Amino acid sequence: MSCPHENYLVALVVPVYNEEQSISGFVQALLTALSPELPHLELVFVDDGSTDGTVARIEELLSPQEPLKVSLIRLSRNFGKEAAMTAALDLVDADAVIPMDVDLQDPPELVLDFIRIWKEEGVDDVYGIRTDRSFDPDTKRLTSEGFYYIFNKLTSKVRIPENVGDFRLLDRKVVLTLRQLGERNRFMKGLFAWPGFASRGVGYRRPGRAAGHSKWNYWKLWNFALDGIVAFSSLPLRVWSYIGCAVGLVAVVSMVVLILRVAFYGADVPGYASLMCVILFLGAVQLISVGVLGEYLSRLTEEVKHRPVYVVSRISGPLSQRVAAGLNAASNGVVYNGKEPKSATASSRDQDASS
Ligand code: UDP
Ligand code: MG
Repeated sequence: MSCPHENYLVALVVPVYNEEQSISGFVQALLTALSPELPHLELVFVDDGSTDGTVARIEELLSPQEPLKVSLIRLSRNFGKEAAMTAALDLVDADAVIPMDVDLQDPPELVLDFIRIWKEEGVDDVYGIRTDRSFDPDTKRLTSEGFYYIFNKLTSKVRIPENVGDFRLLDRKVVLTLRQLGERNRFMKGLFAWPGFASRGVGYRRPGRAAGHSKWNYWKLWNFALDGIVAFSSLPLRVWSYIGCAVGLVAVVSMVVLILRVAFYGADVPGYASLMCVILFLGAVQLISVGVLGEYLSRLTEEVKHRPVYVVSRISGPLSQRVAAGLNAASNGVVYNGKEPKSATASSRDQDASS
């Protein structure tokens, strides 16, 4: 059984970026849908550097009189949704964590099913599967299907289920494992699948956005897909030696054919077209292979720099006390909470100095 205590705590972690129109509708929907579980829930917003009234809306909810315990982690600027989720997973201290979007595209009612399956069946990673995506445009559905197909063909060790986003329940042991994954490239869908604990999907119909607009465009999605593939497969990098061998073999065969032809039939001067075709083809193959090298090398540079994934400028609400009391160690970022920053690098340096 995953949750040995009846008195369990589940943290809903919600990254928000310029979402002032969505906050109050989201909290109302939570209160209505999750009333039987409210005593076991806490809500942790991560403000990802919003420039509108998002923080003010959340601060109105911080009062202890509110029916739901609310905390706020503020990042120092916009680091992106993946970094915001990493901050929450590093800092939140609960028996299970549920990352969800604020735009009500992740239906709150499903949280009850997640908790039931976690408690009763001991499943450590209960994820939502989008069975109906009719609210997404056709191009987004098609490109996303193509991505899952290619990703799962290229990776052998980690499989990400199709049509599954970040909306899921993660048991504490999955969260603790995720804190150990220190890469800067936080492709969360892949990282969530990596620990490999018992998992199960629950189907749901994904509605359209309740308010505001999506922060994604196709260029961002393309780069996100590359992040995922580069982080979980080295096949695109290794395949070039095989392509090189195949092209080399074709070259040797054509060389033999050409030499024999010249020997038996004499030199054949015209050959401009075939020569151009070969030069252009090989040029393209070489440029593509250099491009693939660049994709890996640029990400390797990011990893080597080892910069923090996020910087927390302030924590408010009940979580603030727990972080101040030293219950949480931030593994992937720097946390200012009115005091000296806590970070994995700082604490290992302290240990080195004392030993
Ligand atoms: N988000 C974030 N940082 C960003 C972009 C988005 O924290 O840089 C949050 C956003 O506020 C929302 C969630 O991530 O709660 C999902 O964003 P969005 O709805 O734009 O993504 P989509 O549903 O279109 O994939
Ligand atoms: Mg959305």
